[in-house]
Amino acid sequence: MTLLEVSRMQAFYGRVQVLEDISLSIPDGGAVGILGANGAGKTTTLRAISGAVRSGGDIRFDGKSLRGLRPDQVAARGIAHVPEGRGTFSDLTVRENLRVGAYRRKDAKQVHEDIDYCLDLFPQLQNRVRSNGSALSGGEQQMLAIGRAIMARPRLMLLDEASLGLAPSTAKTVYKAIGRLRQDSGIAMVVVEQNANLAFTLVDSATVLEAGRNVLTGSTAELKGMDEIRRAYLGG
Ligand code: ATP
Repeated sequence: MTLLEVSRMQAFYGRVQVLEDISLSIPDGGAVGILGANGAGKTTTLRAISGAVRSGGDIRFDGKSLRGLRPDQVAARGIAHVPEGRGTFSDLTVRENLRVGAYRRKDAKQVHEDIDYCLDLFPQLQNRVRSNGSALSGGEQQMLAIGRAIMARPRLMLLDEASLGLAPSTAKTVYKAIGRLRQDSGIAMVVVEQNANLAFTLVDSATVLEAGRNVLTGSTAELKGMDEIRRAYLGG
């Protein structure tokens, strides 16, 4: 079953159109990567799906249109956005940040279990549960941002540049954990990533954006075999 179907999506900042024609299709439980140079429209694509920027075209989630919904309404449908820059609360502790992610939920016992799951997925956060967000390293903040999204029990997670600014070994750790999350939970994922080598460890397929349009879409295996992808994204 198709979980998310984006077709002919456009997006605007004020009067400036930054997305011209974007299509994306994600099966339930699937993971799709979005690649592209700076300014190609990757972040805006995620923001348009989550209702943070004005968009045109069609966005359907679980068969229903997301047209005109506010970000909180999109989140309530089951889409969790882990934004670029992470967006964790620096004056709340790790545990409090995780609880914020679950604010819509009434199942207190499972919320507790999910906090334990997040701390098991990201053991680095275990010694930090009482630390303020501001005391965390960049890697720990990224882990916390993903944890907060997990706490909403979404069906789809939008991940924006989860490796940005992290040391290579930390970025690998984060992607390994996301892979495990995917296996454990079956959450579908849209993964925006500059580091295509990392993205390809996680996604089944990917699309390349240029100036607000898809220019190439294929399975991970197909894309890895293409010279232009190797040259532009895989360093060789
Ligand atoms: P990056 O990797 O640099 O984040 P991206 O592919 O995610 O790149 P977007 O951030 O989606 O690209 O930006 C797409 C275009 O929209 C760019 O030309 C950018 O300058 C423009 N843009 C982004 N945010 C705004 C904004 N708030 N107001 C006006 N224009 C914006």
